[in-house]
Amino acid sequence: MISVDHALEKVLEHVAVLEAEEGPILSCLGQVLAEDIFSSINIPPLDNSAMDGYAVRSADTLGASHKLPRILRVIDTVAAGAVSQSEVGPGTAIRIMTGAPIPEGADGVVRFEDTDESERQGIPAEIGVLIEVAPGAEIRRAGEDIAAGSLVLSQGTALRASEVGVLASLGCSKVKVVRRPVVAILATGDEIMDITQSLSGGKIYNSNSYSLAALIQRYGAVPKMLGIALDNEDSLLSKLRRGLNADMVLTSGGVSLGDYDVVREVLAREGKIVFWRVREKPGKPLVFGLLKGRSKGGRVKSIPFFGLAGNPVSAMVNFELFARPAILKMMGRKNLTKPTVQAVVEDAIENTDGRRVFTRVMVAKRGGGYFARLTGPQGSGILTSMALANGLAIVPEDKPGVKPGDVVEVMMLDWSEEVE
Ligand code: AMP
Ligand code: MG
Repeated sequence: MISVDHALEKVLEHVAVLEAEEGPILSCLGQVLAEDIFSSINIPPLDNSAMDGYAVRSADTLGASHKLPRILRVIDTVAAGAVSQSEVGPGTAIRIMTGAPIPEGADGVVRFEDTDESERQGIPAEIGVLIEVAPGAEIRRAGEDIAAGSLVLSQGTALRASEVGVLASLGCSKVKVVRRPVVAILATGDEIMDITQSLSGGKIYNSNSYSLAALIQRYGAVPKMLGIALDNEDSLLSKLRRGLNADMVLTSGGVSLGDYDVVREVLAREGKIVFWRVREKPGKPLVFGLLKGRSKGGRVKSIPFFGLAGNPVSAMVNFELFARPAILKMMGRKNLTKPTVQAVVEDAIENTDGRRVFTRVMVAKRGGGYFARLTGPQGSGILTSMALANGLAIVPEDKPGVKPGDVVEVMMLDWSEEVE
């Protein structure tokens, strides 16, 4: 049996960053840039107005005040998207809208509120300026956001909504990103039935394939359902076949010491076992290895294979601890760790046999501190204990437990790890 930390090290040693693909920017949300992005344009493209008002020559407004307005002749109006053909000469102004380019001759903008426009009828022929306008006032400079030629986003950046927006602002419709892994999922067990069938005696519905597929999607990979295998090697092998060109394979069930637990034998025969059993609770029977598969081009490849325990909580916890970081590494992510908080526990947690214990808790913030409460019975078959939780409280291997009032580290499941 190996430790959680050692197991994660082994997993990460056996996965590599996938190759790049090109995609439309919106479908690349959550993916990692495989190229540097430079700008060929200035953003904004021209000096433009930050306000609705009048473009003026600042010198014309020297000494202007509410008592002594400077009267200027209005020679044009310019809206965003248009360019005025007129030049602001001495004693004149051009009415200008937010985003419109600053006309020739003007070096500042005065807001409507700082003119007497509201006292005049319609679009006035003259305007009184009520304040002194500083040179450059209310002007957004060409290139102040992004200068032409500059590096805007570098290779390795994970694309969030703001990066997708920045790419669009550059007129960039497609980018090269690290491709999303395809993760095949196979449930095992004679008792497992598809959710579209009606239940008969002794059977249960396949929840694992769905919780795992949802996690795979959440972290940006692509689930591929292989269905349900019976508890024998032939059935397992034939169902696995469709997963042999995937980038990762997850099975659930059949990894313990029961009479019908055949996953390890099949993995040993069709690839190799890297480790079996981790000093953790839940999820101890986890097996990890490499399965011999084939890439689309027909080349032999090694597919990271996780034989997750069948208990629904164990399967999900082991996904979060091991498969999730492996997927993120394949996607080119640098930060593979979930955020943690230090929380005061409100219930006791036991650790009877020196494993690292992950207990489902609901963390709430009260008076500036975090408090963690157990989400009811913690059996690894009780999937609703996950549904009620937003985190996993961690009791270290070397601690016999914690009592109410102690501080524990909680891995926050609901918080993503997108800060890199
Ligand atoms: P196993 O690891 O195969 O011994 O399974 C452990 C427990 O998890 C058993 O009670 C199984 O019925 C249950 N289980 C296994 N696979 C699934 C699944 N796909 N969905 C829901 N429960 C499962
Ligand atoms: Mg089973």
